[in-house]
Amino acid sequence: MSDAASALAKLGAHPGLCLGCRHRLLNETRRGTAYLRCGLATTDETLPRYPRLPVRECRGFAAAEDQAPQGIDK
Ligand code: SF4
Repeated sequence: MSDAASALAKLGAHPGLCLGCRHRLLNETRRGTAYLRCGLATTDETLPRYPRLPVRECRGFAAAEDQAPQGIDK
């Protein structure tokens, strides 16, 4: 399992729209937990930095060019 797939599996909830969004960032801690952060929230304060999952609607959604998880931080 890739690091990204591993982090997704540790989220504890399906990410919903965020899964296929180019603004999605995944962080996995050394303790083995993971969380999803919205990269667009850094420039758009109306969006939650840590969206409540699953996200069903989001005006900031932008489809990722590929579906490969990105933004893994350790
Ligand atoms: S813009 Fe919306 S759909 Fe995209 S990562 Fe942020 S909260 Fe999720």
